Amino acid sequence: MTKKGYYGEWGGAFIPEVLYETFKELNLAYEQARRDPLFWEEYVDLMSTYSCRPTPLTFAENLSRHFGGARIFIKREDLNHTGAHKANNVMGQGLLVKRMGKTRVIAETGAGQHGVATATMAAKFGFECTIYMGEEDVERQRPNVFWMEKLGAKVVSVKDGSRTLKDAINESFRDWVTRMDDTHYVLGTVCGPHPFPSMVAWFQSIIGMEVRKQIVKSAGRLPSRVYACVGGGSNAMGIFQGFLDDLEVELVGVEAGGYGLDSGRHASRLASSDGSPGVAQGYMTMFLQNSDGQMLDTHSVAAGLDYIGVSPLLTDLAERGRVRFEAATDKEVMEALDLTMKKEGIIPALESAHALVQVFKEVGGLPPDDAIVINMSGRGDKDIFTIAHAFDDPSWKEFIRNKGAEYEVGK
Ligand SMILES: *Cc1c(COP(=O)(O)O)cnc(C)c1O
Repeated sequence: MTKKGYYGEWGGAFIPEVLYETFKELNLAYEQARRDPLFWEEYVDLMSTYSCRPTPLTFAENLSRHFGGARIFIKREDLNHTGAHKANNVMGQGLLVKRMGKTRVIAETGAGQHGVATATMAAKFGFECTIYMGEEDVERQRPNVFWMEKLGAKVVSVKDGSRTLKDAINESFRDWVTRMDDTHYVLGTVCGPHPFPSMVAWFQSIIGMEVRKQIVKSAGRLPSRVYACVGGGSNAMGIFQGFLDDLEVELVGVEAGGYGLDSGRHASRLASSDGSPGVAQGYMTMFLQNSDGQMLDTHSVAAGLDYIGVSPLLTDLAERGRVRFEAATDKEVMEALDLTMKKEGIIPALESAHALVQVFKEVGGLPPDDAIVINMSGRGDKDIFTIAHAFDDPSWKEFIRNKGAEYEVGK
């Protein structure tokens, strides 16, 4: 690292003057926590009693046989509480909030998964909780909004701009400025102004620490390749950190290819040539933006990968050639999902299925004594509407129609 909070030329903390003291306080609390072994101990203990850690490493025997190449191992972050690696981040930040003596948390959410995770954490710690969400996302993601509210959070529907994630982020910063004394902003991934990328990567590093031990025990060797999907980049950084210094382990990040990299309708900042350097949302990275710096509309079948920016840590690792970037299309994702369900009895999240696509493309060409690891960032139950729609399942349509009819006036 050159300057604090920078990874190569990427990262930084581009924050409004009014937040200066808050960030100073947060930096201090974070640095103290990192130096205090008791903090990490408390974190590991919390995750083992509340969120199923250590999560297992599963040998995907049937898929390995099907492709006839290297042995495929799956790191089961889908078995976390609330169904994804997001729990690692929010529970870690919850402990930090407790240390700072604050009593209220806020968060932004697009698809709602980070909102549900934050609302869960707030309930567990007894914090007041407000979640900002674009009006359009509130309409599209009713089940998640329902759970956030039932978990005790207040969901604010943001009516500005495009009424989606980036407007929710702006609104969260606006809120934070007015309530700095008692409020912490729980950022959802390894992005945003320093110390968030560093801090979230630290909490997620628990994945890599566990998996390094597990793969040596199960496969008798280090993996030749490690695969993870990349939205903001937190599950990828989490697992990659276990192997950064093992140069013989190739690290592969898979972005959302949407309708294809040539279509202009994707969310690939690093694997496509559409990303360009910029500063937005408090940090510098590769963004999907036009020549005026206006953010583009991105697309992915997986809501969690549909983001204009990417972690400064990953931009740096890509630039240095330490992480290879690929993209998977929506169509490829549905095929990989189908095969994984049938062969292994595991329902991957649409996000995680992006990493599977790349594994399936490459694994057959690797020798059988090789092992590869894929990070199953989350489970797919949350995606039932999208998956049923994509498979064009007729009985599902009828079910939805009948459910709708139950709520018609007069019934
Ligand atoms: C949110 C989410 C992602 C994307 O976030 P990263 O910060 O890139 O990890 C990936 N997978 C699942 C299951 C998610 O819920």
